[in-house]
Amino acid sequence: MPVAPNVSDYDSLYAGFSWETEKAGLSGLPNGQGLNIAYEAVDRHAMGALRDHIAFRWIKKDRSVRDCTYQELMELTSRFANVLGELGITKGDRVFAFLGRIPELYIAALGTLKTTAVFCPLFNVFGPEPVFQRISRGDGSMLVTTKDQFEKKIRQLLERLPQLRYVLLTDAEQDESGQVRSLPRLMEKASAAFTIPTTAPEDPALLHFTSGTTGLPKGALHVHKAVLVHYVTGKYVLDFHPGDIYWCTADPGWVTGTSYGIIAPLVNGVTNIVDEEEFDATRWYAILEEQKVNIWYTAPTAIRRLMRMNISPREKYNLEHLRLMLSVGEPLHAEAVTWGEKTFGMPFLDNWWQTETGGIMIANYRSMPVRPGSMGKPLPGVEAAVAEVTDDSFSIITEPGKDGHLVLKRGWPSMFRTYLHDEERYNKCFRGDWYLTGDLAKRDADGYFWFVGRADDIIKTSGHMVGPFEVESALMEHPAVAEAAVIGKPDQLIGELVKAFVVLKPEYQPDEALKLDITAHARRKLGPAVAPKEITFIDNLPKTRSGKILRRLLKARELGLPEGDLSTLEQP
Ligand code: AMP
Repeated sequence: MPVAPNVSDYDSLYAGFSWETEKAGLSGLPNGQGLNIAYEAVDRHAMGALRDHIAFRWIKKDRSVRDCTYQELMELTSRFANVLGELGITKGDRVFAFLGRIPELYIAALGTLKTTAVFCPLFNVFGPEPVFQRISRGDGSMLVTTKDQFEKKIRQLLERLPQLRYVLLTDAEQDESGQVRSLPRLMEKASAAFTIPTTAPEDPALLHFTSGTTGLPKGALHVHKAVLVHYVTGKYVLDFHPGDIYWCTADPGWVTGTSYGIIAPLVNGVTNIVDEEEFDATRWYAILEEQKVNIWYTAPTAIRRLMRMNISPREKYNLEHLRLMLSVGEPLHAEAVTWGEKTFGMPFLDNWWQTETGGIMIANYRSMPVRPGSMGKPLPGVEAAVAEVTDDSFSIITEPGKDGHLVLKRGWPSMFRTYLHDEERYNKCFRGDWYLTGDLAKRDADGYFWFVGRADDIIKTSGHMVGPFEVESALMEHPAVAEAAVIGKPDQLIGELVKAFVVLKPEYQPDEALKLDITAHARRKLGPAVAPKEITFIDNLPKTRSGKILRRLLKARELGLPEGDLSTLEQP
């Protein structure tokens, strides 16, 4: 039986939409005690009709499967919440997780939210330096990780992280010290019953770090009220229906993996598939088949890899359950949308959002005709526009097809509430009622939005944001490096690759061996996902008169593009 889409007519839904009305789909804490993400995602289902429904199906690397019902998830997350209470973690404290896609990650996330402490995920392949930056900037009180990660990357940081009170190891049988504890032991002793305390909708819930062009990573703080956007986008964009089996391939180290790999599907009461393994085309197709996935949310990098493989999945795999395929994180080119149509019998529906927005803001909807290459139309409840922005002026562009800054009218529930310890930077993101996203876009005459590019130097590699400054800082720690500048170089597969231009100290000679040594140093410090994939030695870096590296110019030269306005260049 075909499933009718939840959005039957986008225009009338948009016109009549109200966040207040949509709230009826959430329960709120018993006795009017507020709104808590974990209660909406887990407990209310566990105490209702979905008690025995599978919340998570975790697929391990060896393909074995562990199911967890909403009732079991309630108990596990309550145990974790009690562990935090036992260790004195209280409201607002920051609990970090540095884990792969294993059950403990999901239990820690939801258990932390139950206690009103703030959950902060770290991408599992980060090297020690990005981990240190984020835990120290985020004032982490606790870190949940594995023995292996602890030994390889964390132990060396402990002295520099005096605020970190506890490290909980998911796979240690015994406590190592008062600070480094065995999570399984603590969980065993903890009660499986926990009453979620009063949670104000504006209480902080999640901290997600995102990369900036300059300076340290920015900690975008989100509140419990964000769950309303997770619920609404789950219903209208991901088109969740009762009984659906859903797979989001994003890692919870990034915001998509948290908002849409944990919260949105559970709030909507569907079954969430999690695969511990990294991308593998045949494994992915097999999962779609075996798990009878109905809704698949993935990313352009993965889609491009699949496109290259020359597998005709519908000939080899039974994908009859698949109803909807979506993509986020980078521009989804028109070819990928039409490849979806040809290969799976349905397009990939692109949608746009970012760490700061907390949830999907612009999307293609199942019932709306797709314009391949477009990000779609604003979520009902969200006002998006294109604006002309200069240092001292701001005006909305009404003319269709004209490029400008993509801006959103402030006020959607999952909007970030601050950059931690950087209110000034936060305030700079707003012009009156409008939030400046940092992206450039255009809007066509029918209201579809088209991505044009980023307004800054941030790199999107394999769907992950990398700030050039962070990479440059690590490179500069190598004894041979005098200066470094990092750009994103377009790459067919991973969107952009991290490319570094390095100026050597006078006593060093540029050669292959040194390049390899600098590369190895960067990989050790930053991890392979962030470290440069290409390094070029250069005599001088182009800079502005005020001393800022002109990455834009390096990029133009690298790509053979026009060099643009060079009026601020120090040495033309
Ligand atoms: P992040 O904060 O890491 O989620 O990255 C957000 C950024 O990724 C956005 O500001 C865009 O630059 C880019 N992005 C996300 N989704 C899309 C999309 N559908 N099309 C083009 N760029 C996207």
